[in-house]
Amino acid sequence: MFIERDGVLNKVRLERQHQVIPLTSIEFEVNPEAVILVKRLKAAGLVVIATTNQPGLSHGQLSRRELDRMHQALQKALQMDDIFVCPHAEADRCPCRKPKPGLLIEARFKWQLDMDRSFVISDKWQDAEAARAAGCTSLMLKSPWVGAVHHDFLVQSFSVAVDKIFQLQASASALVA
Ligand SMILES: [Zn+2]
Repeated sequence: MFIERDGVLNKVRLERQHQVIPLTSIEFEVNPEAVILVKRLKAAGLVVIATTNQPGLSHGQLSRRELDRMHQALQKALQMDDIFVCPHAEADRCPCRKPKPGLLIEARFKWQLDMDRSFVISDKWQDAEAARAAGCTSLMLKSPWVGAVHHDFLVQSFSVAVDKIFQLQASASALVA
């Protein structure tokens, strides 16, 4: 189970239809809705992993120390099983910057995940594309950043996405039984 960090797990500032992501730990604020939803996902036995592109590390606008502090705050509030970060800029042409599936693939090996039964929740098309490439089911939150790439489900909110996952899991196990 993969969840995009910025805009889903933590708040972002909006400026002219763009998400302005936090560059210091002081600006970093966990989305209160995420606390209960991540708890529900973990209680259902899902491995819950945050994924995030942080090109500011490569560009020098974001320090490792500030990122570590942000993720300490994230862990204190949410107790994610893991956090996977792409520190590269687009020009680095790395395999892990979403929409590429590198972070998902890395997590698959580390956590022995079955991608067929894994989900991605995000408000951005890059995650839908990474999910498609990795073979996961994508649940996109309605936003101006969803784009026109393939996604499996488009839902109104993070909480509806979580309900949908439980619904899908229930019908999958009904088929097996
Ligand atoms: Zn990368």
